[in-house]
Amino acid sequence: MSELPYSYDAPVSQALFDRASVVTPGGVNSPVRAFRAVGGTPRFMVSGTGPYLTDADGREYVDLVCSWGPMILGHSHPDVIAAVQDAVSRGTSFGTPGEGEVALAEEMVARIEPLEQVRLVSSGTEATMSAIRLARGFTRRTKVIKFAGCYHGHVDSLLAAAGSGVATFALPDTPGVTGAQAGDTIVLPYNDLEAVQEAFHRHPGEIACVITEASPGNMGVVPPLPGFNQGLKDACANNGALFVSDEVMTGFRTSRAGWFGIDGVRPDLMTFGKVMGGGFPAAAFGGRADVMAHLAPAGPVYQAGTLSGNPVATAAGLAQLRLLDEAAYTRIDAVSGQIQALVSEALTKESVAHTLQSASNMFSVFFTDRPVRNYEDAKAQESFRFTAFFHSLLANGVYLPPSSFESWFVSTAHDDAAVQRIADALPAAARAAAEATAA
Ligand SMILES: *Cc1c(COP(=O)(O)O)cnc(C)c1O
Repeated sequence: MSELPYSYDAPVSQALFDRASVVTPGGVNSPVRAFRAVGGTPRFMVSGTGPYLTDADGREYVDLVCSWGPMILGHSHPDVIAAVQDAVSRGTSFGTPGEGEVALAEEMVARIEPLEQVRLVSSGTEATMSAIRLARGFTRRTKVIKFAGCYHGHVDSLLAAAGSGVATFALPDTPGVTGAQAGDTIVLPYNDLEAVQEAFHRHPGEIACVITEASPGNMGVVPPLPGFNQGLKDACANNGALFVSDEVMTGFRTSRAGWFGIDGVRPDLMTFGKVMGGGFPAAAFGGRADVMAHLAPAGPVYQAGTLSGNPVATAAGLAQLRLLDEAAYTRIDAVSGQIQALVSEALTKESVAHTLQSASNMFSVFFTDRPVRNYEDAKAQESFRFTAFFHSLLANGVYLPPSSFESWFVSTAHDDAAVQRIADALPAAARAAAEATAA
């Protein structure tokens, strides 16, 4: 990055980033953390409390990333920390079954009606990878339909036209994924049921499953149009394919029962991560018991994990889920609505063209005046305005995802004081967005 207009200091973060860049490619362990899309030095965080993060230079930020979704109760929630400390005091991994993983699975199954059985894994990527393998093993078919702009982790076959970091860097594909791995993936425009019908028509008896984000948040927030998920479900049912709903982001965030709790469309398989891990690496896939019965050791489709169902991770996840009652979601939805209104008001005041889109309490701002229905629409926004907006907020103590292709996240800990800090920082950020010019 050459000359940046944003020259406020972060000397300790800069020194850490320099050290990191020697021993780690690009200085980060997950690409979008590197601020490549917005420029500048990524902030190295040292602690988090409630809605706030503190960086290595001692600056405090209102956190609107929440670890990309998991920290739905805010940072260092005392009940979650206590559950973790209790679990840790008894050991960190046994490589045997344990009660914690049973209790977490029971809590998930109790919340989501079509979720009859789950298998725990350690990341959302593993969850979607395993769900696809199971769908192929169950149907004895090879092809998978996914949608442009939907991100399902860095699974080889699902990295075609993916969102999130892949969208941020505009990589059409990635080296290292072979034609054979990507060749069975059919990528279609999001919110386009006709394209789905046509694909089923073109490949009779070949499509194992359709995988979609339950409500996409990895190209910014682009909710399904009314009837879209039901249409996918029906197309799958009519053609002998499975409907796989990726709820890694929306699960236990958009409602008690995730996006299923909002649109009620019954998937055959579902994937989870983020919120269910309480800030630890815990994720899952699950669904119809007759399909899950094909999974080893009950059935022939192999899947495994040394740390799957880890006792510390499951304790954190279970403690977090138990605190997420209806009142918690009412509170998160309300604070999300407040922040959305403040953002829109500030941008409107400066005549900045923008579209605010939400899916329950997930939301994001697109710098365009047109509704965003798919990845093409999302890419048409004026991202250079986001860069200016982001850096102004960062300088004034508000931490946004460092990309215009990501959802913003809030928590039960975002109280009036935190909202006020955002309100105070927004006018300058809106002005910066208004004054920004394309590079
Ligand atoms: C985050 C995410 C994943 C990947 O999860 P990881 O734990 O990062 O591997 C998969 N699907 C969706 C919808 C996600 O948001």
